[in-house]
Amino acid sequence: MECLFCQILKEEIPAKVVYRDDVVIAFEDIHPIAPIHLLIVPQKHIGTLNNLMPEDNELIGYMIQTAKMLALEKNISEEGYRLVLNCNAGAGQTIFHIHLHLLGGRQFSWPPG
Ligand code: 5GP
Ligand code: ZN
Repeated sequence: MECLFCQILKEEIPAKVVYRDDVVIAFEDIHPIAPIHLLIVPQKHIGTLNNLMPEDNELIGYMIQTAKMLALEKNISEEGYRLVLNCNAGAGQTIFHIHLHLLGGRQFSWPPG
């Protein structure tokens, strides 16, 4: 069975897509934990951050630039937003295809849970 996010990328499973290009896709999280909760997912399947290779540096930068662009589009740039990358079960990773959470629209506490 292919991973869930690869299936979303291939449009085999529907998602509320807000942005898509040759490198990434961004869609609404199905269980949002903030008024704005988007997932920025690379087209390339990478299981966890532990699998990142030096040649993925540009990709990671691109994911963050995409998040910045979407934050501007969603009008949360000035008030602030949070970007989260969970790695493995101890950090709460449940889908093993790396993804950047873009969270905004409410106050966030620190340290995170
Ligand atoms: P993780 O916990 O791995 O960092 O994040 C996985 C995220 O994917 C969770 O926030 C979860 O709500 C979201 N998610 C899980 N299944 C689906 C799905 O089928 N569609 C969408 N849009 N999001 C999903
Ligand atoms: Zn995948």
